[in-house]
Amino acid sequence: MLTNLQARDVETLIHPYTNLASIRETGPLILERGKGVWVHDVDGKPYLEGMAGLWCTALGYGNDELVDAAATQMRKLPFTHIFGGKSHDPAIELAEKLKEMAPVPISKVFFTNSGSEANDTQMKLVWYMNNALGRPKKKKIISRMRAYHGVTIASASLTGLAGNHNDFDLPIAGVRHTSCPHYYRLAEAGESEEDFATRLAADLEALIIAEGPETVAAFIAEPVMGAGGVIVPPKTYYPKIQAVLKKYDVFFIGDEVITGFGRLGTAFGSEAMEMQPDSISVAKALSSAYQPIGAVMIPEMMYEAMLTESTKLGNFGHGYTYSGHPVAAAVAVKTLEIYERESIFERVRAKIPQFDARCAALEDHPLVGEARRKGLVAGIELVADKKTKHQFDPKLAMAAKCVAFCQQEGLILRNVFSDAVTICPPLVISPAEIDELFDRLTRALDKTL
Ligand code: PLP
Repeated sequence: MLTNLQARDVETLIHPYTNLASIRETGPLILERGKGVWVHDVDGKPYLEGMAGLWCTALGYGNDELVDAAATQMRKLPFTHIFGGKSHDPAIELAEKLKEMAPVPISKVFFTNSGSEANDTQMKLVWYMNNALGRPKKKKIISRMRAYHGVTIASASLTGLAGNHNDFDLPIAGVRHTSCPHYYRLAEAGESEEDFATRLAADLEALIIAEGPETVAAFIAEPVMGAGGVIVPPKTYYPKIQAVLKKYDVFFIGDEVITGFGRLGTAFGSEAMEMQPDSISVAKALSSAYQPIGAVMIPEMMYEAMLTESTKLGNFGHGYTYSGHPVAAAVAVKTLEIYERESIFERVRAKIPQFDARCAALEDHPLVGEARRKGLVAGIELVADKKTKHQFDPKLAMAAKCVAFCQQEGLILRNVFSDAVTICPPLVISPAEIDELFDRLTRALDKTL
């Protein structure tokens, strides 16, 4: 029986990423407020927010400094665009700060409202750059199976998940997907992690050669795949991939929408994964999700090409009304200030051994095949048979069941790709709360058995 609020909800809302039929039966969980890592529903029941919202509320809930930063900016100047030469202090300060923090040399920053728009922009900039460089055929973009890069027509095409393509008539032309670096599932019998990484780099090279290197513009990768089930590539994977990209002059786009700002214990996931992208997309923890904002950080060579092209055309014809929105930018500036002042990334590093140990212990549970993790993010894969790694029949929806039991236990987690339950708590989670999270998850796993 739906409550009044739930009934009004299902009468009016289309919920993103939701089974549109079953939500009409069950109604949504309606949340009302939050503090720290806890959120409360409309009946006052508390839940430990083990997914930081959608991998984004890094500083947790109820952070008054972020609220004040937004209110102050709203009173001062709630909006000005930055088209055609206008600007404002928060956008300038934020761009400067991002350049300073970047793990690779960055020349300029372009602001978006989301991660999808950031990756969409990345694709357009690569095309624009290659037109400027006089190589109009070099336009294909290679992504990976199980990658998640967003939902606009371009970024959903880059996403390597069937659910984002089926019946949306995607992917668009010019996008290819290479092998996913999931050692547990995709390694051949007896293959070492090193050999697996070598094979994947060879797969990439074979794809580039088959397509024609003169047609391949860019490769895009998340340092650790998030929505694809938290896939942590082998240690030597990126160095091997990067050697192939260099050989064929393929631009490397790093998607740090989840891994940016401390998730892996470093400012950027690239640093933790020996990844050296040419450009970087960020969003989510950039503002700790208190405001929607994303950014694309590009190298000098790309900027120079853009300069040439916009001079030729008389204009750089891309931008969102809310690119560099002053309130979002002011909140992001404050977020980055808090990360630094409170040593949030160092404190994440101190929490990793405990998080890691609790994940490792889950591998003893009869339902858990692999508890893959890096930093403060994990994907717990449920299997029907631990020895053979045999998967459950998807119809059983085991991970979804487990997530529902978590909710009963007052813990919010997510079920993403197939049978993985993902964990991505706010970075400010305390050691006691980490234990609480895993205790509740273990009880939910026991109920799922
Ligand atoms: N890229 C990655 C790695 C993501 O995880 C996401 C969202 O989860 C996106 C891009 C898309 O971001 P948004 O949902 O803000 O459009």
